[in-house]
Amino acid sequence: MFPSPSTNVRRNRSADTPPFCCRKGRPMLQLINIEKKYTTGDLTQAALNGVSLNLRDSEFVAILGPSGSGKTTLLNIIAGLTEPTSGKVYCDGKEVTGTGTERGVVFQQYALFPWLTVKKNVMFALEMRGVKGKEAEEEALKYLAIVDLVKFADHYPKELSGGMKQRVAIARAYAANPDVLLMDEPLSNLDAKLRVEMRSVIRHTQKSVGITTVYVTHDQEEAMAISDRIAVMKDGVIQHVGTPRDIYQRPKNVFVATFIGRTNIVNAHVKDGIITFADGYHEHIDALDKAAEQEVRCSIRPEEFIICKDGTEGIHGTVQECTYLGLNTHYTIDTDQGDSVEIVEESSIGEGLKKGEKVLLKVKKEKINVFTKDGDTNLIRSDAYEKQ
Ligand code: ADP
Ligand code: MG
Repeated sequence: MFPSPSTNVRRNRSADTPPFCCRKGRPMLQLINIEKKYTTGDLTQAALNGVSLNLRDSEFVAILGPSGSGKTTLLNIIAGLTEPTSGKVYCDGKEVTGTGTERGVVFQQYALFPWLTVKKNVMFALEMRGVKGKEAEEEALKYLAIVDLVKFADHYPKELSGGMKQRVAIARAYAANPDVLLMDEPLSNLDAKLRVEMRSVIRHTQKSVGITTVYVTHDQEEAMAISDRIAVMKDGVIQHVGTPRDIYQRPKNVFVATFIGRTNIVNAHVKDGIITFADGYHEHIDALDKAAEQEVRCSIRPEEFIICKDGTEGIHGTVQECTYLGLNTHYTIDTDQGDSVEIVEESSIGEGLKKGEKVLLKVKKEKINVFTKDGDTNLIRSDAYEKQ
């Protein structure tokens, strides 16, 4: 489907704002306590449970979550295609709940007009917002330059590869110059290599044009690579909003820790700021000083373990698997308590381990995250560390 172009010429931004200028700062999109319930027969199901989110102008935010977490419902509500049960959507300071102007939408299938050349496809979006003739042609070429397709301006879509067609569709979506561009898993039909390539095309185009973008994906690596901030969703609730780095390093709960990147979840006990693991191995963590005594679940990423061959202190384990991958070596280590942990170590550290070798595991205590037993709260005080 063609992204709905900005038909509201009254707010034709090209008249007062140069199209290639970023207008960072003010909030462009505000979602306030959005709820959506679907009723099928006697069954009422909540797809969204009080979602609030602000996007600054020119910001690129990914909505990331597993299938069924409410991403598409949220995007459709932002687009005005679905009415929320309650809550409000503001776009550029105006309430737009349930109305569909000024927000372009790109779905999984980009459809170009096959009877128009590449340039004319992009010009169509410009003409829909009142840019005409020579000016439309020149602007279309600028957008095509961003996606590196000027050479193909006079070709027809059928003469292009899948990836090139996607690039035209991206250029056209941005040329429509909506206040907010919404994309729902736009790369999910492409093969893995092209998906990675297209990430940088989308990222580069968005940064060049500066249009606020909401990008839905279930692929955490894609979200990390492409976004300024990520909103992680589960069961219709935003679990954590933050930069890719915040979310990876200080996830708000166990779900976020396990959904973003790889991690090991290890049981431990906290008392007086001291965390004690299996075999009596303990560390003092300043950021836990105010936590009450309790059983906890720790998220320890594969790179946050230290493997020791000598000494007496640490979690006792036995190497089960070693995979040498050049820069890094991956280990699977079974602890004496019966847990299996994944560890990644730079290959240059030590001379490598062998299957069956006994080791002691310690943790990089300033890196690990410590959650309440229910997994809902990170006990590491957010002010405890400078941004890493
Ligand atoms: P996602 O895009 O994250 O996979 P969706 O927003 O499509 O999730 O769906 C969220 C939940 O709402 C799912 O449980 C889905 O079954 C339900 N749902 C979505 N659309 C409808 C609908 N039109 N009628 C009934 N239930 C729906
Ligand atoms: Mg979806």
